[in-house]
Amino acid sequence: MFKSLDINDNPENQAGQPEGVEEVKCLIIGSGPAGYTAAIYAARANLNPVLYEGLQPGGQLTTTTEVENYPGYPEGVTGPVMMEDFKKQAERFGTDIRWGIATKADLSGGIHKIWVDNKKLIEAEVVIIATGATAKYLGLEDETKYAGGGVSACATCDGFFYRGKDVAVVGGGDTAAEEAIYLAGLCRKVYLIVRRDVLRASKVMAERVEKTPNIEILWKHQAKGLFGDGVVEGANLVKNLGTPEEEDVKIKIDGFFLAIGHKPNSEIFKDFLDLDDVGYIQTVPGTSKTNIPGVFACGDVQDSHYRQAVTAAGSGCMAAIDAERYLSEKNS
Ligand code: FAD
Ligand code: NAP
Repeated sequence: MFKSLDINDNPENQAGQPEGVEEVKCLIIGSGPAGYTAAIYAARANLNPVLYEGLQPGGQLTTTTEVENYPGYPEGVTGPVMMEDFKKQAERFGTDIRWGIATKADLSGGIHKIWVDNKKLIEAEVVIIATGATAKYLGLEDETKYAGGGVSACATCDGFFYRGKDVAVVGGGDTAAEEAIYLAGLCRKVYLIVRRDVLRASKVMAERVEKTPNIEILWKHQAKGLFGDGVVEGANLVKNLGTPEEEDVKIKIDGFFLAIGHKPNSEIFKDFLDLDDVGYIQTVPGTSKTNIPGVFACGDVQDSHYRQAVTAAGSGCMAAIDAERYLSEKNS
């Protein structure tokens, strides 16, 4: 779990850009595969992109180990190394990469206004939103109570602390499968808590989970709470919730890992952009165009379906090309 930062404590921020108003041609918000790919294309098209990295430089892939399905890395690559490569390539063509978080937006005029770190105002001709998605929690009080004491949403960040211990992963998707397999390599036993009787994960990942001897899948189980003296010592589960066979189940664990999906980071745009029920930015099919001319969205923040690094990168490319064509038409 990446800890929240006080932006005022960050020396890069203190030494960073001047406060006030700055006009830019192309503003890119986010530094995952989508943002960096948009930056590479925008820089090569002379759009002089300024990119703000946000709280998670490199994006979600910096929380994972091996990425085996991104073309161009036949032996696989770790997420952090891959994202450093993306960054270097964006820098090579002159992208102005900055530390900072977009904290407010006003997309009501022809020039788009984005505030960074609640003080600096950027006025951009085009904005490319590549803010990705953030891990979800179940909403149990105990997740907060035991934060930093056994609850995590990032196995690759925190798994090391649970070597030789028993842990649980909640979820049935690819992330849960991947986290469970990763933890199985470190821990004595991994419970995979799945609320249905089937995994949502891809077939290949599901098969890997089922073949891993120290993973036990708890089908049709849901977490009700955690217990322990200061740190997690176990979880209270319920099996077959809402059926005549409903029963309480208690497991002893030291770590409780959430892997139940992500929420799109679209909050600051919600008053201006069309979003779906979950908060994904809606784009014109086959393009990165939002309902506001000159505002484009790419990557996981607008993709509830594929949510892969390669599709995020592909849509980042689309966003930069759409932005370049928008500016050409506007200025012709
Ligand atoms: P993200 O990677 O989510 O990046 C979003 C960026 O936006 C971050 O840099 C963040 O700091 C920034 N940001 C957010 N809000 C703001 C703001 N207000 N101001 C400024 N910046 C902001 N996909 C694969 O293809 N292969 C894999 O093996 C794979 N493994 C995965 C493992 C895990 C554990 C997870 C969670 C995901 C994995 N995925 C994998 C999915 C993949 O990581 C995502 O699809 C991809 O990272 C999405 O890229 P993105 O650029 O849209 O967003
Ligand atoms: P996801 O596919 O949305 O799966 C979320 C899982 O969590 C589902 O099994 C869901 O259960 C469960 N869940 C959600 N809310 C829950 C709750 N309140 N209680 C209990 N369980 C709950 O999310 P993801 O696994 O994070 O994957 C996101 C995207 O990234 C996917 O497209 C995935 O393919 C991709 N990804 C790819 C890789 C890879 O290729 N190696 C690795 C990681 C992620 P239900 O199934 O019952 O809805």
